[in-house]
Amino acid sequence: MEINGGCLCGNIKYVADVDPDTATICHCEDCQVNSGSAFGYVIGVRNNNFNLEKGKLSFFIKTAESGSKRELGFCGICGTRIYARPVMNETGFFGLRLGTVSQRNQFTPKRQIWKRSALNWTSVLETNLDLDKQ
Ligand SMILES: [Zn+2]
Ligand SMILES: [Zn+2]
Repeated sequence: MEINGGCLCGNIKYVADVDPDTATICHCEDCQVNSGSAFGYVIGVRNNNFNLEKGKLSFFIKTAESGSKRELGFCGICGTRIYARPVMNETGFFGLRLGTVSQRNQFTPKRQIWKRSALNWTSVLETNLDLDKQ
C-alpha cells in the first residue's frame, strides 16, 4: 500500500510502499527508550521502497548484542523518529515508525513482539477504553 508521511516540524516528507500485515507493536526496551513512550509501533516497508521527498535524515547506528547493526533515521531538527532498518546493503526488516504515517489510522496492529519486556500496565490497553469520556 502506498502511503506518505513526515516529521513534526515539516522538514522531512516521504512516500513509501508498506505491507499492512506487518503492523507491529514492539515492547523491547530499545523501543521504549528511543520512542520516549511505552512501546514502538512500526510497519514494514516493502522491498526497501522508501523515497525521501523532502529534507535530509540524520542517523544513529545501533549495534545489537548479536552484532548486527541497524540505522535509525530521524529528523535532525525536531527529532521525530522516521525508521529503523539494516545498514546499507544488508537485508532485514525495514520498520517505518507508524506515528509518522499520514494514513496511520488505517493500520490496526497485527502482532506484538518482545512482550516479556512490556510495561506491566500495557495490558489495560487491551480493554475497550471509552475515548468519548476524555
Ligand atoms: Zn522535523
Ligand atoms: Zn523494539
